[in-house]
Amino acid sequence: MSVNERIQPNIGNHSKRENEILPISYLNDFTLLERLQALTSANLIVSSELDLDTVLQRIADTARQFANAAYAAVGILDEYGSITSFITSGISKEEREKIGELPHGHGLLGVLIRQGKALRVGDMSKDPRRSGFPPNHPLMTSLLGVPISLQDQVIGDLYLTDKFGFDEFSAADEWWLTLFARQAAVAVQNAHHYKRVQISHQRAQTLAELAGTLNQSIDPEELFQQITQASCRLLELPASALYLLDSGGTHFEMQSQYGLQESLNPHRLMSLDGSIAGKVLANGIPVAVSDTSALQEVLLQPLHNGRTPRSLLVVPIRCHDQVSGVIEVYSAQPREFSGEEVSLLEAFGGQAALALEKAQLYKHKEEFLSMTAHDLRAPLASIMMSAGLLAAHLPAGLPPTLTRLVNNISCNSERLNNLLNDLLDLTRLEQGKVRLHLECLEIGEAVAATAHTLIPLFEEKAQKLEFDKPLREYWVMADRRRFEQALVNLIANSNKYTPIAGTVKISLQVTGNWVTIRIKDSGPGIPLEEQNRIFDRYYRQTVHEQNSEATGTGLGLPIARYLIELHGGQIWVESEVGYGSTFFIKLPLQTSLQSM
Ligand code: ADP
Repeated sequence: MSVNERIQPNIGNHSKRENEILPISYLNDFTLLERLQALTSANLIVSSELDLDTVLQRIADTARQFANAAYAAVGILDEYGSITSFITSGISKEEREKIGELPHGHGLLGVLIRQGKALRVGDMSKDPRRSGFPPNHPLMTSLLGVPISLQDQVIGDLYLTDKFGFDEFSAADEWWLTLFARQAAVAVQNAHHYKRVQISHQRAQTLAELAGTLNQSIDPEELFQQITQASCRLLELPASALYLLDSGGTHFEMQSQYGLQESLNPHRLMSLDGSIAGKVLANGIPVAVSDTSALQEVLLQPLHNGRTPRSLLVVPIRCHDQVSGVIEVYSAQPREFSGEEVSLLEAFGGQAALALEKAQLYKHKEEFLSMTAHDLRAPLASIMMSAGLLAAHLPAGLPPTLTRLVNNISCNSERLNNLLNDLLDLTRLEQGKVRLHLECLEIGEAVAATAHTLIPLFEEKAQKLEFDKPLREYWVMADRRRFEQALVNLIANSNKYTPIAGTVKISLQVTGNWVTIRIKDSGPGIPLEEQNRIFDRYYRQTVHEQNSEATGTGLGLPIARYLIELHGGQIWVESEVGYGSTFFIKLPLQTSLQSM
């Protein structure tokens, strides 16, 4: 064979590029030093990357180019010894797609992987071990394959086919490829580490983000859903379930699931015996099952697609050292769960337990508050009535301090009464217990009448209350008392938060089938980040906490929001600090009466 035969013309056009290394066939006639130089350069090319797919692609490309082969492929094994990544070089995208299924590593490549030794085949068609390649694998005559091993453990394989200009690969090629594969293994390991670090980092971020979301929720049902969805997101798994222990501690119940088929009996109480969840609830130790086919007599709820989960992880949810429930996550494939994954889900379980406890406490607090408010109503009504009678029948000539005290009782018991009413109202609104008594209201008249009743408040603060010439002949279906209640809350706020001698302007505007009521004040304004939150229960801007004049409970706006939404309307605020606030109520017009 002449030297000319060994040189492939198509490599010539790369010869001036950086990193260009002569094919090993070229090097056969050169010194060992030059071969080692080529090896070092090839290693540099693959080890300068950290992304796993890029590293694998570089390994395949570099090996093919250096050995002057027509085709190269790299396979990486998973923990079960099956090929998970399969990267090729030397074929078009279309040809690559045609290969379809990955080689299983059970045929010739399996021999290479199991024995951990290089394989050199001159003519594949004559080799009895040639099986195992996918049907659309590129045609090949000669083959050189080497294991990719780390500390004597085979983690993958690298093979080349059809060396240009030669019938088969040489022993020198094998020597070179074996050494290259050893170095490549280190690059693969680094890429794996890098990927793991990246995933850990990403997961820690997701955990913090999910914990933050849970923390904001106080509705237990909503929390249950969030917990199962978040568990799936955290470990990138398709399905999960949340089970909580009942108060007796002997049974448990599924509270929510994600990605599983609907259970026929979702609220079935289960005893602790006979299930993995029950076992984890009883002893508080996480359980991972890497292949559920090994589980006998355990019935698993199918995934959405009807298939049985192939692996699962169950961790306890602990609050104050007590196991109160478990989170189960499922995978569609058999897989190991790493220690890090178990700890991560346990940490999330801890966050979930805290959020659940908080929601439970909140619920108890609300129940207690509305019960207390209810019980206080009767005695308060009696105090109010007595104070009113007392004030009306005070004998002449009493010392002014006594008169002031009686008025104080009367005034403050009324405030207390308003607060109790607000509390009870909000609870009933939240529970969907408020029914509207709708009537047809002339909206301009209704707004004017409500504003009118509040004039004394504005006079007290020497404020100007302007009302644009009201629109006439526009009608809405509304519960007069409830609509006025919402409107009073907004107008009274504008009076309360606007300083002395400020201005409040009320106007109405009709657009299409909607009427919008605007209440614009010259008060302090509301920062953007607080504008949505002021409609939440008990929310008060911190700035008012130091300002004793503008006392409040943070109930007025949530009540107004519920009431307006019950009317099919919307409520919102636009505001800029230092430039006042404008509150809007938008209601649907009663179109059939509009032209009356
Ligand atoms: P309260 O007024 O009893 O505190 P609300 O629910 O009516 O409760 O209002 C919630 C919060 O919204 C108030 O504490 C205040 O911080 C803010 N707010 C409401 N209306 C105005 C307004 N017109 N100008 C400035 N801040 C307002």
